[in-house]
Amino acid sequence: MLNIVLFGPPGAGKGTQADFLVDNFQLIHLSTGDILRGEIAAETELGLKAKTLMDKGELVPDEVVIGMIESKLKANKDAKGFIFDGFPRTVAQAKALDELLKGFGHPVSGMLALEVEKQELINRLLERGKVSGRSDDQDASIIENRINVYNEKTAPLIDFYKKQDKFYSIEGMGTIEEIARRIEAVVAKLMS
Ligand code: ADP
Repeated sequence: MLNIVLFGPPGAGKGTQADFLVDNFQLIHLSTGDILRGEIAAETELGLKAKTLMDKGELVPDEVVIGMIESKLKANKDAKGFIFDGFPRTVAQAKALDELLKGFGHPVSGMLALEVEKQELINRLLERGKVSGRSDDQDASIIENRINVYNEKTAPLIDFYKKQDKFYSIEGMGTIEEIARRIEAVVAKLMS
C-alpha cells in the first residue's frame, strides 16, 4: 500500500499533481478542501460552519477534518493506497493520521513537499480565482492569511516527517509535466 502525503502551501499545485498520481498509480485522492467544498455545496450544517472559516482563510477544526478522513479510509478498505492532499495541515492531524493508518498496517510512505516561491503562489491563486469562482482565491488579503496560517501551523509538519525520515522536497516551479516527473521519480523510489 502506498500512502502519499502531498504537501505544500496553498497554490503549490497539490490538486493538479494529485490528479496525475491517481491516473498513474491508481491511488485514491483524498482532498479535505474538496470534501469541505462538497459539504458547502450540499448546504450541510458542517459545510455552513466550515464556510465561514474557509472564507477567511482560517483552518477548519482538527476534529472535523480528522473525522472526514477517518470515514473515507473506512469506506475504502481495499484501496491500493491514498494521496492525502491538504491533509494533514497541523501536527495534531498528522498524529491522528498515523494512528488511523495503524489500523491499515500501512503507514505514510512519504511526504512530498512542493516548494514554490511566495509571489508565484499568490499569482497562481489569483489566476485560479478568476476561473474557479473560489472566494478564498479572489482576495489578496485572504490569500496572504492562508500563507501565514500555512507558515505558522502547517510548515512544522516538515520537521514532523523529517524525524520519521519521510520528507522529500520537490521543486514546484516549472511546467506541470516537469513537476509530475519529479514526483514520479520519488514515488517510484517509494514503491521499490
Ligand atoms: P489550498 O491548498 O489551495 O489552500 P484547499 O482546498 O486544500 O486549498 O483548502 C481550502 C480551505 O479548506 C483551507 O483554507 C481551510 O480553510 C480548509 N481546509 C482544507 N483542508 C483542511 C485541513 N486539513 N484542516 C483544516 N482546514 C482545512
